[in-house]
Amino acid sequence: MQVNEYQTKAMKTLNPSLDKKDVLINSVMGLCGESGEAIDIVKKWLAQGHELDREHLAKELGDIAWYLAEAATALDLSLEEILQANLDKLQKRYPQGFAAERSLSRSHGDE
Ligand SMILES: [Mg+2]
Repeated sequence: MQVNEYQTKAMKTLNPSLDKKDVLINSVMGLCGESGEAIDIVKKWLAQGHELDREHLAKELGDIAWYLAEAATALDLSLEEILQANLDKLQKRYPQGFAAERSLSRSHGDE
């Protein structure tokens, strides 16, 4: 499956009554909420003696992907455009692969 195919299929489950502004707001709130669910699984593993629930964590990562697709849709962007722009940014930042000194000396606006 290609990422844009995922976006198309996932957005068939988007609430059609939401207007574009609400879609964007829902997406960023959803990203935060699902990230919190993922963090909670890792927290329980790290600090509360639980086994790492990899299956549950993988499901939460899928939920994060859904909200990422929603955010891209709200911005009239494809998931591929979002992912490619991220790779382009990282390639510019770390042309030889990760280097701590390049991370520490990032230029203003390199977020
Ligand atoms: Mg979830």
